[in-house]
Amino acid sequence: MYDLIIIGGGPAGSAAGRLAGNKGLDTLLIEKEIFPRYKPCGGAFSERAMSYLDFDIPQYIHERNILGARVHFRDNFIEKLKEYRIATLVTRSVLDDYLLSKAKETGIEIKMGKKAISFREDREYVEVYTNREVYKARFVILAEGAQGNLKNQIRKKDRKNEYGICMVAEIEEENKKIDRYIYNSIEIYFGIVNRGYGWIFPHEKYFSVGIGGLASYITNPRGAMIKFLNLHGFTGKYKLKGHLLPVGGIERKIISSRVVLSGDAAGFVDSFYGEGIAYAIRSGQIAVEVISRILNNGVGSLSDYASFCRSEFGENLKYSLILSRMMHRFPGIFFKIFTSCEEVLDTYLEVPASKRTYRGYIKWLIPRVPKYLLFKSLRQNGPSKASKLSL
Ligand SMILES: Cc1cc2nc3c(=O)[nH]c(=O)nc-3n(C[C@H](O)[C@H](O)[C@H](O)COP(=O)(O)OP(=O)(O)OC[C@H]3O[C@@H](n4cnc5c(N)ncnc54)[C@H](O)[C@@H]3O)c2cc1C
Repeated sequence: MYDLIIIGGGPAGSAAGRLAGNKGLDTLLIEKEIFPRYKPCGGAFSERAMSYLDFDIPQYIHERNILGARVHFRDNFIEKLKEYRIATLVTRSVLDDYLLSKAKETGIEIKMGKKAISFREDREYVEVYTNREVYKARFVILAEGAQGNLKNQIRKKDRKNEYGICMVAEIEEENKKIDRYIYNSIEIYFGIVNRGYGWIFPHEKYFSVGIGGLASYITNPRGAMIKFLNLHGFTGKYKLKGHLLPVGGIERKIISSRVVLSGDAAGFVDSFYGEGIAYAIRSGQIAVEVISRILNNGVGSLSDYASFCRSEFGENLKYSLILSRMMHRFPGIFFKIFTSCEEVLDTYLEVPASKRTYRGYIKWLIPRVPKYLLFKSLRQNGPSKASKLSL
């Protein structure tokens, strides 16, 4: 009988594993893949995400410091850089492998290449089944990400307007050509898919290029991706990977009597620009804080997990959803505002940098809207048309 079984070794599972090990919980982590494994992702690892770790990320993992963003809508674009880093770009197979190694060094048991296929809750324990084995623990943290379906033993399946579909490709390129196109900024294209966006992120020797949108609106993600690639001069044959992403800020059931959902499994993703690593890490940690108080001190219950998550970042996710709904409902007006004055993007960048909340940003923005609507858009015919990737 373990104290805790963690299912999934992504950022949520490994953050939970590290804290559980440090707190002395007898812990087993089960991961279905052998790391390092591929994970479709833009790889923007925000300052918010880094602030949750109790260790530094080694230099070899940081591919590029990101100071700002270049945001496009139709023929308009705006670019703003901060004087400080808001994120670093990473390759997920490398980052996740490192995060899991930091969990392992605390002494927890990790079984790779083992898929949990179901679980059963009893009054005193939970049984987790793989193809051949049965493991028992007092509690389970389910950190299986967005794609797994064990979470549906706890809550109903998301509806089509509660999750997004993304397509992503890693496109190899020489660093000097990447630098010439974009240096320490990420590029976002709104208005290229209904209720979603496209991105071009400059990594070490490759671009991460992708699109994502609400599943209920994006009927042909592969077609939309190919169109987006061609528009930017990427005309080769690329491996296109699809992945789901929950819409964050929606109330979901995230606990049962002995099982806690964390990370993407719980739906903890920023709906405005798709950041999920930070909330995965923090929710994994909160789950362990609550479970260890129950096991070690006999204090509290799993419902504390839901309320701690709500009070730490639930409001941020809710307001990210409000902002994304405003944008998708009135895209023309929204981007007129976004591209009319640099301070609109400049102030927004404080959100991923963890210096401002979404609520704070919306409160800041609303009284200024009438003024911005009178401004002329700052730039036209941005790199989307002018330079494409004529590398
Ligand atoms: C295309 C795309 C781009 C994104 N870009 C960004 C970005 O730039 N920045 C950002 O912050 N977020 C981004 N996200 C979101 C981010 O990837 C997720 O929020 C984050 O990975 C969630 O972490 P997690 O640990 O909950 O799940 P995952 O990272 O999905 O990890 C889940 C792990 O569980 C394992 N697993 C699943 N089922 C089982 C099972 N039954 N048994 C055992 N193991 C299992 C999986 O193999 C996996 O290793 C992006 C997402 C997508 C799809």
